[in-house]
Amino acid sequence: MKLLNTLRVRFALWTAGLMLIVLVLFGTFVYFSMHQGLANSIDDSLRLSTSQAIAAVNIENGQINFSDSLPEGSGVADLQERGFTIRILSLNGDLLQAVGPYRNISIDLLSIKNAVAGEPGFSTISLSDSDPVRIYTAPITNDQHLLGVVQVMQSLEDLYATLKQLLIILLISIPILLIVSAVSGYYLAARALSPIDEITQTAQRISTEDLSARLNLHGIDDEIGRLAMTFDNMLSRLEDGFKRERQFTSDASHELRTPLTAMQAILHVTRQRKRSPEEYEAALDDLSEEMDRLRALTEDLLYIARGDMRPTMPHEVVNLSNLLTDISESLQPMAEFKGLQLKQNIQSNLYIKGDSDALIRAFVNLLDNAIKYTNEGEIKVNAMRDTNESLQVTISDTGRGIPPEHLPHIFERFYRVDESRATQGFGLGLAIVQEIVQTQNGIIEASSQVGSGTVFRLSFPMIEDTIQESEI
Ligand code: ATP
Ligand code: MG
Repeated sequence: MKLLNTLRVRFALWTAGLMLIVLVLFGTFVYFSMHQGLANSIDDSLRLSTSQAIAAVNIENGQINFSDSLPEGSGVADLQERGFTIRILSLNGDLLQAVGPYRNISIDLLSIKNAVAGEPGFSTISLSDSDPVRIYTAPITNDQHLLGVVQVMQSLEDLYATLKQLLIILLISIPILLIVSAVSGYYLAARALSPIDEITQTAQRISTEDLSARLNLHGIDDEIGRLAMTFDNMLSRLEDGFKRERQFTSDASHELRTPLTAMQAILHVTRQRKRSPEEYEAALDDLSEEMDRLRALTEDLLYIARGDMRPTMPHEVVNLSNLLTDISESLQPMAEFKGLQLKQNIQSNLYIKGDSDALIRAFVNLLDNAIKYTNEGEIKVNAMRDTNESLQVTISDTGRGIPPEHLPHIFERFYRVDESRATQGFGLGLAIVQEIVQTQNGIIEASSQVGSGTVFRLSFPMIEDTIQESEI
């Protein structure tokens, strides 16, 4: 039973089964056509021999001259040599003259009658001690007068011997062919399926610790080759995913450690001796600053970690014009504090479908970056209808810019251009922004010139501004 569970055994059995049906049908066809062909040729030769025998009958004055007919007639000896039996009978069926081994077998009166009525015909007589005999019965005529009946007979021994031989050949060759086809079916299946065993073994080798195994069945462009390629691609994606998760976890723990270590250091230093109330207050301020960092980081981490659970389709109608104006106004003091101008050029009544909390988070992050990485100049927030279906928001600054080699990576989690960490941040802001924009069906891209500034360009699918009730 267990053997039947392997595809190759089943394939071999199927091949053998089909082959058995084909061979049996073919064998039956060959056997019966051979039988028919041989029987026809015997009948033909009987007919021919009968004409030869009639020609040998000596007819004188409208009478058969028996003394000069069989066996002396010309050609009769030849027929006899070839195993034919020839009989001459009267119109009543009485045996008058005969030569050959079957001259005494019983006379079938019906065939005599038919011959006398002008219908020569064949009949077969079974014998108890040997193979059946085929008989051709025909009238002997002279000038329209019926003189008698002639019968030429031949044993069917050769026919049966040939058919028997054919049967033996078929019975021996069919099982041999069946075995050959089953064995070749097994090996063909084994050959075709061997990559599948390889896939199974590779899949067994794979664990979350090691996803590096690959099948590498390149160059085979069949079903199995494509399966192997899909399998390899899937493994690559899984490996990338696992690597990213691992990187994220280690980066996250690293970032979490920094404020914790700072807090520990503050506590340690403060506790070394008695402090004045002012010193305690300063230490508490420092602690609170680190706490803020820690809270901000955990919030960002939580936001990213919950990524998969957020609904993918935005649900509410958001008035982006009002939302951007509010954010810009609330960040105005922060920009002014750094001596920067924050300008807005926002078209009114721009509506999108989205999640307003997430959008606020995204734009605050972008403006926070713009303010953080710009030391002088201005920050501009533009929003306008782009085409009928989309609108565009740009946030540009005149800050330090992002070097081109860093630009493709800024949306990665924990990626920061400033390795020395001179400015505060975790490198999570843009990763969150990108995720938010994508969930709102938007697109974000950045362009930058080192030394002269950075532009973030966002575009969102717009909805018609007729739905005023749910305005933000
Ligand atoms: P976080 O936002 O998590 O507090 P962050 O601001 O360093 O930290 P991101 O907002 O993801 O992280 O930005 C990634 C990096 O891209 C930044 O460290 C900074 O080097 C660069 N960057 C982002 N925005 C700008 C900008 N407007 N001008 C220049 N560089 C920028
Ligand atoms: Mg940032």
